[in-house]
Amino acid sequence: SVNDTYTLNNGVKMPFIGLGVYKAENGSQVKDAVLAAIEAGYRHIDTASFYGNEKGVGEAIRASDVPRDSLFITTKVWNDDLGYEETLRAFEVSMDNLGLDYLDLYLIHWPIEGRYTEAWKALEKLYDEGRVKAIGVSNFHRQHLEGIFAMCRVKPMLNQLEYHPHLAQKEMHAFCKAHDIQLEAWAPLKRGGLFEEPVIQQLVEKHGKTPAQIILRWDLQNGVSTIPKSVTPSRIQENIDIFDFELSGADMEKIDSLDSNQRMGKNPDNFSFDE
Ligand code: NAD
Repeated sequence: SVNDTYTLNNGVKMPFIGLGVYKAENGSQVKDAVLAAIEAGYRHIDTASFYGNEKGVGEAIRASDVPRDSLFITTKVWNDDLGYEETLRAFEVSMDNLGLDYLDLYLIHWPIEGRYTEAWKALEKLYDEGRVKAIGVSNFHRQHLEGIFAMCRVKPMLNQLEYHPHLAQKEMHAFCKAHDIQLEAWAPLKRGGLFEEPVIQQLVEKHGKTPAQIILRWDLQNGVSTIPKSVTPSRIQENIDIFDFELSGADMEKIDSLDSNQRMGKNPDNFSFDE
């Protein structure tokens, strides 16, 4: 059901599906989307300081009647704030924005060379102090995770990567599994860029579900946590209505055949934020 959880490597339970809020405007747009999601049954919200909408997310959390400890809230430290003291400060700003006294999951947004290990020490401190229940990374490839393994006391619990049928991340998925790091999909719907694929359309016909539901079900059956974004209540509802059907092994293989290394975002092996 929508309440299905994954257990992270430290025992914390995380709801499989969450609401992504990248590009949801701070204020009523993001607040209404989060409230619609909670109403629909979501218990997991994915924001970031970079999105500029932590305040609106916090307003929705306070306006909802679901208890804080039933919700799972993620935010991320942005590139400019990577460093030990910088990251500790950025965390306090995010917590003020959200209006929370603890966070469920804090992620390093991108693996900026020379800066992410110091930031990791800050996340470990926040974790030790109980300010955050779980810590992890985003857009980390093998070499970046190895950089963390070489210095960490606490291993990352999760890695959030661009992941969808056009970018199935086979190698990183196996690497994360081997290290007991939960994989989480960003842009799981490739922002709509997969809906016309004939393979997806065939499965739409077969199962009587929408393209988004077929793709999100593929995430679930692959053991990948997923955070589709929408601010439209009917789509927010649609995206969690995936627990009443199952893709067969052959269906899964058809979707797997779409894997073609097509990215929406930057490649963690070779990125820059200077342009
Ligand atoms: P997504 O794949 O979730 O696509 C969202 C878009 O798909 C929506 O804007 C809407 O146009 C469309 N859509 C959603 N549901 C639909 C439906 N049922 N029917 C038709 N169209 C539908 O893309 P995303 O927002 O980039 O990614 C999801 C979340 O992942 C973000 O909101 C954010 O929280 C996170 N994210 C993280 C990173 C990172 O670097 N860690 C980067 C990008 C996004």
